[in-house]
Amino acid sequence: MNLPDTGQKRIVIIGGGFAGISLAKNLKEVDLQVVLIDRHNYHTFQPLLYQVSTSGLEPDSIAYPLRKVLKELDNFYFRMASVQRIDPDGQTVFTDIGNLGYDYLVLATGTKTNFFGNQNIARYAMPMKTVPQALDIRSLMLQNFEKADDCLDPVERKALLNFCIVGAGPTGVELAGAFAELKNNVFPKDYRHLNVDEMEINLFEGGPRVLPPMSENASKRAAEFLKALGVRVHLNVIASDYDGERLTLKDGTTLNTKNFIWTAGVTGAAIEGFATHVLVERLNRYKVNRFNQVEGYDTVFAIGDIAYMETEDFPKGHPQVAQPAIQQGELLADNLGRMLQGKELKPFTYRDKGTMATIGRNKAVADIKKLKFAGFFAWFIWMFVHLMALVGFRNKVVVFFNWAYNYINYDKAARLIMRRFKPKA
Ligand SMILES: Cc1cc2nc3c(=O)[nH]c(=O)nc-3n(C[C@H](O)[C@H](O)[C@H](O)COP(=O)(O)OP(=O)(O)OC[C@H]3O[C@@H](n4cnc5c(N)ncnc54)[C@H](O)[C@@H]3O)c2cc1C
Repeated sequence: MNLPDTGQKRIVIIGGGFAGISLAKNLKEVDLQVVLIDRHNYHTFQPLLYQVSTSGLEPDSIAYPLRKVLKELDNFYFRMASVQRIDPDGQTVFTDIGNLGYDYLVLATGTKTNFFGNQNIARYAMPMKTVPQALDIRSLMLQNFEKADDCLDPVERKALLNFCIVGAGPTGVELAGAFAELKNNVFPKDYRHLNVDEMEINLFEGGPRVLPPMSENASKRAAEFLKALGVRVHLNVIASDYDGERLTLKDGTTLNTKNFIWTAGVTGAAIEGFATHVLVERLNRYKVNRFNQVEGYDTVFAIGDIAYMETEDFPKGHPQVAQPAIQQGELLADNLGRMLQGKELKPFTYRDKGTMATIGRNKAVADIKKLKFAGFFAWFIWMFVHLMALVGFRNKVVVFFNWAYNYINYDKAARLIMRRFKPKA
């Protein structure tokens, strides 16, 4: 790779997600050459991907150029590349645009969708981890509505209008709520000659309650909100197969659906090259100590979703959400400065700010420390927190105006098929 020799030690950060940019932004005062590598040239605000999938927001309001995030750092270099392998002994990363040596390496690669080894589901299901995937869901949804509007066969039409989401974590719940809002408020105006009541939203969860990571109270209230919106919630149900047309459940039941969205789990986006013992196999996350150093390496770190750190309060690792990623990035920047000055490193302690999920207009659930609440106030806090957390002033303003417009007009304006999605044959 073509990078200047600045005489500084080089730190290579792989991944421009919450963890990677939080670290890079805080390396301003540290005497290192910082190279950030990501396969995309933008940061994705994943918590709002579901709004792109359901026409609530345009993709550019939740994505932000990585070069712009870090424009004020003199010692900063960005390379858009996909890292394919790492040689930890030779201190080199191998990418699709060339190789790069490092003095310090930070793995901040996050997660990828976990299909739990089911190849058919991996082939035909719609995952929602990236902006292009969210746009694919949006296109598929609108294409299927266009087809349904012109379809005389009631069986075919039912499959086109059947939306099946597997996984009732925050993503599945938020997506189901947003589809229900389209059904209740938007599609009846767009498709006036179609019986939009035929649209079904089925949410499947393998466990006994929706929002498994949240409190029982949040699960109960979220299930009530979903039912009130017309979402069919199926608990203790496992999806075992999908062939592009038909969904098969573990008990043998089948459903015809042309819209099958998979939000059932993630696994670490680990990169080839390290000995297998540094990974927690079942999670694909790098084992790190309290300073985020990967087991057995003093100068290799993992932060965010890809890092697995056991602490007294979190014996099974930290939750894979934005806050631990941001906080680990901030602390690692501080610790790198300390390391260069020969000072003692500070151990990581997670400050849990709580968990929230929204289920359509005016409804959300929130677990914030000992406070558990639901309804309009939770929804208001949810909006405020997400608005503040978005990267970039322009994005905050654009999202705020979109939300205000959609709220006042009961609308979701981005109902656009910008590029057609071709389902796999
Ligand atoms: C749909 C969805 C909704 C979510 N909602 C919430 C929410 O409401 N609240 C919340 O707190 N959390 C939420 N999360 C989780 C949150 O987004 C993650 O915890 C957070 O993004 C983790 O940050 P990270 O930096 O570790 O990884 P990421 O943000 O995933 O960033 C990883 C980066 O690494 C890059 N990368 C990966 N592998 C390579 C490679 N080999 N070469 C080059 N680049 C690579 C990727 O392109 C990506 O930019 C949600 C996640 C999803 C998918």
